[in-house]
Amino acid sequence: MSAPTPRKLKTRQGSYLTEVLKGMGITIRHVIKNLRDPEGMETVQYPEVRKPMAERYRGAHRLTSRPDGKLKCVACMCCPTVCPAACINIVAGEDPDDPIEKVPLRFEIDMLRCIYCGFCVEACPKDAIRMDTRIYDISAYTRQDMVHSKSYMQDLMDGDKAPAEEWYRENPEHAPLGFRADIERVVTDK
Ligand code: SF4
Ligand code: SF4
Repeated sequence: MSAPTPRKLKTRQGSYLTEVLKGMGITIRHVIKNLRDPEGMETVQYPEVRKPMAERYRGAHRLTSRPDGKLKCVACMCCPTVCPAACINIVAGEDPDDPIEKVPLRFEIDMLRCIYCGFCVEACPKDAIRMDTRIYDISAYTRQDMVHSKSYMQDLMDGDKAPAEEWYRENPEHAPLGFRADIERVVTDK
């Protein structure tokens, strides 16, 4: 079977001039429309206003809790095993109230390495980890602040938690391993 011959552009398209003029026409049309009706401009005043995210959007992880307040996670290690970015760090231990139960003593996700694939959520047999927070603006001034700790992720969607960086400085006892509150934030002049 012979290879398909590449389609030749017509001379009019090949010169790009018509396409450039068409593009400029669209831009000018929008400029005139917006000047006539500034209220109708499709501009989102981020961060005060946020666009609604799709139902299936994968945002920052949260760890879900049981009715008694304990984490659902049983430290089965399925999620760190399946994680292609190797960014989940779990240290398992016994529940002090019930030695039969296994619990995560530490549960950390390095958000700088996470690729938001959602495999950890799919692999979890306990519905203990979800990515339904729709939080997408995860940022920090230092690498250490990009590691989300167990306490930070627990019930994250409640909405009363500041960004991880601020939260760790206010709650250093819940910060991930290696967090150093004495490292100053880099403050840039605006
Ligand atoms: S979303 Fe993917 S990369 Fe991120 S922690 Fe889960 S499994 Fe790992
Ligand atoms: S979050 Fe789920 S998959 Fe990960 S260790 Fe806990 S129970 Fe296992």
